[in-house]
Amino acid sequence: MTDYRRLRVALLGAGAVGSQVASLLLRHGPELADRAGATLELVGIAVRDVDAPRDVDLPRELFTTDAEPLIVGADIVIELMGGIEPARAYVHQAINSGADVVTANKALLATHGPEIFDAADQVGAQVYYEAAAAGAIPIIRPLRDSLAGDRVQRIMGIVNGTTNYILDRMDTEGADFADVLADAQRLGYAEADPTADVEGYDAAQKAAILASLAFHTTVPLEAVHREGITSIDKAMMDAARHAGYVIKLLAVCERLTDDAGESISVRVYPALIDRAHPLASVHGANNAVFVQAEAAGNLMFYGAGAGGVQTASAVLGDVVSAARRHIAGGVGVGESTRANLPIVEVGRVTTRYQITLEVDDEPGVLATVAGILSEGRVSIATVEQTVVHEGNGEPGVARLVIGTHKALEQDLSETVDRLAASGVVERVVSVLRVEGD
Ligand code: NAP
Repeated sequence: MTDYRRLRVALLGAGAVGSQVASLLLRHGPELADRAGATLELVGIAVRDVDAPRDVDLPRELFTTDAEPLIVGADIVIELMGGIEPARAYVHQAINSGADVVTANKALLATHGPEIFDAADQVGAQVYYEAAAAGAIPIIRPLRDSLAGDRVQRIMGIVNGTTNYILDRMDTEGADFADVLADAQRLGYAEADPTADVEGYDAAQKAAILASLAFHTTVPLEAVHREGITSIDKAMMDAARHAGYVIKLLAVCERLTDDAGESISVRVYPALIDRAHPLASVHGANNAVFVQAEAAGNLMFYGAGAGGVQTASAVLGDVVSAARRHIAGGVGVGESTRANLPIVEVGRVTTRYQITLEVDDEPGVLATVAGILSEGRVSIATVEQTVVHEGNGEPGVARLVIGTHKALEQDLSETVDRLAASGVVERVVSVLRVEGD
């Protein structure tokens, strides 16, 4: 048997992901050693409560509540506690004591990534985070390594399984948001407090991580435009289906080019996607990241965006990479932010829209609406009119579903305000962006 060098691995956290990582490390030790070129010795697991029940059987003697001694003696520290503190302090401690860090902590990286990457850079350590953006789906390494010679133009990601599960069931079963959310909570797809998922916070953290990497630019979480899915109702789903679309919560990271040069936009919102688009076929709690690169063209990465054992796969891939780097020596490859592109507000982005209005069913109304749109520099691509109810002497109500050509978001929102105040529009039912051109 090959006599490998031993690397000491400390694990912080043994919850859904950490317990599976520990179990795989212990079960597949010799195989991982062959791949890594080093024996990976799990020296301890730091948790809050050593007696808490675990998802898998793990040796009791590995557990401790004292993380610091574990960190100080380790070559590789795997942070799977989640949250900001004490995870942030422990990650810094690991870097300062010369260890490489593997983490799945999107909240930490989206808020303190630059500071952590700088600290690692200064000592030549490496921070690996394949599991932080889309669980088991390999997307960090493709963006960082495989596409390093290309220019990413746009990323569209379904990066939150809970919202995809909810929207998919609303689409396929005609179910209501509240009913599906309650079901999702019962089945464990959604947390008791679903805010982070349904309001798009989780997706925004992942968008910040993906955009930073794709565009070599530091993207603070505050620069990500975020909207959730709580306003999506059955009527919007039906209208989308009728027009050949499906509604998905998308994380869109886009390179924009105009006379002023290049900039980027990073945004999370529910959007319409053509049913023929590959992202439309992402069902249930699955995730997918669709990448458009200048030379490579369109690429799609698809699979489980969460789940303990699935996410553990990505974490262990990072552990093997970290071990190989330790064996090979040399400094870590830092995060590249050399492009440092300006990040524009969502108002400066152009997309297509679908505007659904309830209007007075009277002659001339369509012309008035068309006039307001045209004045607002929003050009109509399609219009469909249906009668909502007859007037019986009074004006009835008609529903207009207007598909636009690409328009500037700022123009569009000002125009919708003018439509709402125009006197002929009874109700702005919905305004949804159309993505995926
Ligand atoms: P989890 O089930 O809540 O487990 C957290 C673990 O960390 C527990 O073992 C807990 O100890 C320990 N811990 C928490 N605070 C601690 C502290 N102050 N000191 C010591 N130990 C502490 O979390 P998870 O779902 O495994 O997620 C871990 C990380 O992976 C998070 O950053 C998450 O965002 C990320 N992630 C998770 C998934 C997923 O599917 N779950 C997918 C992708 C990424 P006790 O067990 O003693 O309470």
